[in-house]
Order: sequence, then C-alpha cells, then structure tokens
Amino acid sequence: MSEKVLDFRSDTVTRPTPGMREAMAQAEVGDDVFGEDPTILKLQARIAELLGKEDALYVPSGTMSNLIGVMLHCGRGDEFICEAGCHIFNYEQSGYAQIGGIAARTVPGEFGVMQPKHLHGLVRPGNDHLVRTRLVCLENTHNRGAGRIQPYEHVEAICGWAHESGLRAHLDGARLFNAVVATGIPVEGWAGHFDTVSVCFSKGLGAPVGSALAGSREAMVQARRLRKVLGGAMREGGVIAAGALYALEHHIDRLAEDHACAAKLAEAIREIDGLTLRPVDVQTNILVFEVDPALGTAADFVARLADRGLLMLAIAPTMIRAVTHLDVSHADAERAGEILRETAVASAACSA
Ligand SMILES: *Cc1c(COP(=O)(O)O)cnc(C)c1O
Repeated sequence: MSEKVLDFRSDTVTRPTPGMREAMAQAEVGDDVFGEDPTILKLQARIAELLGKEDALYVPSGTMSNLIGVMLHCGRGDEFICEAGCHIFNYEQSGYAQIGGIAARTVPGEFGVMQPKHLHGLVRPGNDHLVRTRLVCLENTHNRGAGRIQPYEHVEAICGWAHESGLRAHLDGARLFNAVVATGIPVEGWAGHFDTVSVCFSKGLGAPVGSALAGSREAMVQARRLRKVLGGAMREGGVIAAGALYALEHHIDRLAEDHACAAKLAEAIREIDGLTLRPVDVQTNILVFEVDPALGTAADFVARLADRGLLMLAIAPTMIRAVTHLDVSHADAERAGEILRETAVASAACSA
C-alpha cells in the first residue's frame, strides 16, 4: 500500500480544489494588457475593496508585487528600512538593488518583530553624502519568524512614525489573511496603516498563481507601468485570476484550520526529546524547530522524514520548517507528529 506523502514544506504546494478548477474553467477572459479581462478586473476590485484601498493590481508573484511596491516609493539612490529577517531583504535577490538602484537598511528583530524605538533616528538627514530614506517595509505574518504576527500596536507605531517622518510604508502581506484570521483584526484595519500592501493568493489561500498589490489609484497607474517593464503583464490571465477570486471567497476563514493543525503539530513536537520549537509558541501556520545535533543535522533529519513519507524543509544547519495548509488535514498533522517522534527515537538510537 502506498501511503499519501505528507507535504509540510510550504503552503505554496497546494493544488487547486475541484471547485477552484471549475471556477477557473468557467472564467470569462480577455486581454488584460488592453484592460479587457473581466475576471482580473473583478479580482482587482475585490482585493482593493477588502484591503480598503482605491485600486489593486494582479501580478504573477509576491516577489514582483514587493519589488513594484518598493519601486513606487523609492528611486535610485533612495533607501528603505526593513527587519533583517524579512523576505524582501533575504529571498528576493535584492531586486530593489539589482533593478531599482535602491538600498536596504536592516533593523534586527525578534522572530521578525522590530521594536518601534529601534527605528527612531534612522531617517538620514539631507546631505550629499547620504542616500535618502524613503520607506519602511513590514512583513505580516513573518515567514522566517515562523509565522509570527506583528503586534498591532507595533504596526500602528511604526507606520505612524514613518508617516510623521515623511516616509511611506509598504506591507509584505503574503500571509496577511493568516494574521486576520488569527487575531480577528479586520484586514482593512491592518492594511489601513500602509500606503501599499502586497498579498499572495498562492500561499495559504491555495490559488495556483499570483499576488496583488493595492494602494492609491495614482500609485496603481505607476504600478501598472512597472509591471509591464518587469514582464508581468498577462493576457488572458483571468484563467488564473479566477482561482484567486475563488480563494478569497472560500479559503480565508478556513485558515483557522491550518492554525489548528499547526497547534496540534506543535503540541506533538513539545513532547519529543531532541526537537525544540523556535519560538516555542506557534501563532499561525508555520512552525520552526531545532534539531539536537545528537540526532544529526537538519538535512539528515529531513531526509529520514522523507523516507517515512513526510516532507519538511531544512532551513538552517539545525533548523527545520513545517507549514500547514489546505492540503493537510488534522489526521495528517497527527500522523506527522507520530513520524517526527518515530524518526527522533530512531535517530537517537543510531547515534547512541
Ligand atoms: C512567498 C513570499 C513572498 C514571495 O512570493 P512569490 O510569489 O513566491 O514570489 C514574499 N513575501 C513573503 C513573506 C513570502 O512568504
């Protein structure tokens, strides 16, 4: 009997559900470069409405959405401030520098959370020697911070400070809806503090492709130009946009299931000798845990898990990441906990 492979590597691995595929098959489409794809137009209007922004733009990826967001607010020789572990700084090839001629200034955070007071004094004075500070970027929930939710008061304080200081604020909200569902704070409440907000449809929401950037009407006109030069303008993209629309309708509230599965898996990990959650509390759908070197490296451990049909990701020599999503059930989370325990016991026995 071949057992189902349990894939906890990322919430990007979800496949479109039958209902989503049906919606995609039925989608009305047109050429979006001519502004004639009704499904993309509908998606953009819907996400703008949800986020409380004037307009939004559908783009192929979160990387492009963030790059356009940063380039809207910063030009060549400008700088933005961000937390040192954030996705924009670590995992997007510094596109802002490669393509935009923009510098990043990082501030250390704890599991992705910066203290507002650590930003004070970081706006550089006008001086020919210096780059110009233009923007602050936040990430919510925080990917490397194991799905950490930015404390709402921090978001208020940091964005308030940014605006008082003449800066703009951009949110990498790839998993913003996870923060919404976990806190009960409405999405427009979070988004309202930022000039531009990026959200991903292809993470926990379970759509196959795409992200959106939202902001003012004027900003989105410029964003559309940037999307074109970056090669991100699509033609009959309504086929994939329909998956994103379907996700907004059907897959937001169910993120609570992912959080419950992550909590269940966390509970199992707390009971396993040699595995330690970092941080110990799990707030949304991402868990990061440390493997005691006595059990081998994270890469060794992940390879042994894969032999037992459980996929997770080694993200550092001793660190493993697991993510819950649409395609893992409560039973899968329970089974994953058992496989982790069996693997830890077997690893300890062979190194003893
Ligand atoms: C995945 C992710 C992105 C980038 O999205 P892609 O669609 O993979 O380019 C940006 N920010 C965060 C926090 C992410 O997790």
